[in-house]
Amino acid sequence: MAGGWSRDGAVQDQIDASIEDAVKRARSSLAKGESLKRCEECAAKIPEARRIAVPGVRLCVQCQSAHDEGDAFTSTINRRGSKDSQLR
Ligand SMILES: [Zn+2]
Repeated sequence: MAGGWSRDGAVQDQIDASIEDAVKRARSSLAKGESLKRCEECAAKIPEARRIAVPGVRLCVQCQSAHDEGDAFTSTINRRGSKDSQLR
């Protein structure tokens, strides 16, 4: 009798997770390309490890985090919430 409710919740979680996955994939494929040796914004040298770790990287860590904070205000709060629930 009570089973239906929790199952609905689980399915919804899975749907959210796969949408999130698709968005992540779309984002990472957009980002792919040539990794720059120097930051596009401040011309700081980008370490090779970072270029390997982040395919198509264009910004140094500092500029990247400044950018990330820029869109984090609206979207990251939600993303973090679902990420946490996936990890558990
Ligand atoms: Zn920079």
